[in-house]
Amino acid sequence: MKIKSFSSFFLCAAMTLYTATSCGTKSSETAPEVFNRMVFAMDTYMSIKCYGGGEAALDAAEARIRSLEGTLSVTAENSDISRLNSSAGSPVEVSQDTITILSEAIETGTKTGGSLDVTAYPLVREWGFTTGEYRIPSHEDIVGLLKNVDFSRITIDGNNVSIGIGQALDTGALAKGYTGDEVVKVLRENGAEAGIISLGGNVQSFGEKPGASEWTVAVRDPFSPETDMCTLNIGEKAVVTSGNYERFFTGEDGKNYWHIIDPADGCPADNGIVSATIIGDNGLNCDALSTAMFVAGTEKAAEIWRSDPYFDMILVTDDGKIYYTGGISESFRNMSSMEAEVLTVD
Ligand code: ADP
Ligand code: MG
Repeated sequence: MKIKSFSSFFLCAAMTLYTATSCGTKSSETAPEVFNRMVFAMDTYMSIKCYGGGEAALDAAEARIRSLEGTLSVTAENSDISRLNSSAGSPVEVSQDTITILSEAIETGTKTGGSLDVTAYPLVREWGFTTGEYRIPSHEDIVGLLKNVDFSRITIDGNNVSIGIGQALDTGALAKGYTGDEVVKVLRENGAEAGIISLGGNVQSFGEKPGASEWTVAVRDPFSPETDMCTLNIGEKAVVTSGNYERFFTGEDGKNYWHIIDPADGCPADNGIVSATIIGDNGLNCDALSTAMFVAGTEKAAEIWRSDPYFDMILVTDDGKIYYTGGISESFRNMSSMEAEVLTVD
């Protein structure tokens, strides 16, 4: 089998930040000092930039990332997720972080009619996305594993969680969004006044960018991931992208297979969307929605958005069209040759 995927750094860098970079230097007389750090965690290169707070704020943010990685890892033996996956249906006491993430997973899973389902993990593993040993599973194997994909069998009682016998889960679809929220919180608690962080396809900004202009974020072109498709100016927001170009392999049949699985058929989701970006106030929710919308396909994604349009989104279809919601129309700048159409509520 021919394995073709971008390097870790490239596949994780789904967004570009247009901000000045200087380490520990004053950007002007009045602006707070700017601090930068790169962290590799959760299989992703993460960049953190903050104004004020200093190295202590960056140290605290990095410690929080490493602690969350330990809690949420599917491979570390004592993580909350590994203990749940080997619980054989018995209740497991987990951290508040895990409870928050699983509650969001259940809520978004319900709202999207199962497009997001954290219990799809056995299929993610079977296709090789956990180990890097990619393969196309047999139809029988897929059908067998699908029987246990059902997030409604997760029960939460205080800090105790149980999953169904035969089930296993992973929070990969939401973990970086939650981590972004927590990094922002920790940076603020440690004196940072403003900043922007990029955790692979997840960008989060907070505070006012010194100089009064807004933060500018670029979303990559899924058909040419080394180039930017569009830019957006944002205030304090999370901008989260799920794409089919981030992690994939080419099968012996010459087709590409990517890491987001459609819980409806157990195969890489192929419902017309090649990139889904969500813009909102909460990183965890945006991350959950980005994966769910990618799976849902354009029509269902638009329907879900219209039923409760509290966030914005940019969808790119496999036939090369961009759809974006009206809330970002003032700052959306199309840099591609693709046609872009605004989605409206009615
Ligand atoms: P990335 O991690 O590349 O930023 P996503 O946020 O879209 O992208 O999450 C993809 C990850 O979520 C996969 O690697 C897998 O662990 C998990 N996953 C795949 N399909 C689903 C699904 N339908 N529902 C929930 N989790 C999924
Ligand atoms: Mg996601």
